[in-house]
Amino acid sequence: MIANDDRVFLKEGMNTVTLSLDPPTLTIREGVECDGIYKLIDLYCDNKKCDCEIGVLIASRQKNEEIVIKVGWQSPSYYMNHGFSSRDVRFLHYGLLDPQVNQPAYAQWFMKYFRQLMGKDQSLTKYMRLRYHYTKIYESH
Ligand SMILES: [Zn+2]
Repeated sequence: MIANDDRVFLKEGMNTVTLSLDPPTLTIREGVECDGIYKLIDLYCDNKKCDCEIGVLIASRQKNEEIVIKVGWQSPSYYMNHGFSSRDVRFLHYGLLDPQVNQPAYAQWFMKYFRQLMGKDQSLTKYMRLRYHYTKIYESH
């Protein structure tokens, strides 16, 4: 759903989970432990020989607390061929908590709301133009 307010691009439910751009911010107001305003930063690998097609989103509501999420936009078979397990592949389109990172205790809860914003068609990926940014960085080398 696209709201009229051009700073707020995605809303879910009773407007309790929202994504704003410029700067990218995810806000949760559900009356739960993971409520907060999360800054989102997207990172990409800069290895020109790598074709991982993965974006990493860092979500943080306060210093020294980071949720690290891997996001993919290619087909499941693409990631299977790049070494991801079938379980992880299922999550990549909606956000996969990076298993190699020590995540905050509430990260699993946060992901419930994060995945709402991803929706059926990877809305958050589209609005944040993750694939485009990946391609730009890839081409800049
Ligand atoms: Zn890569």
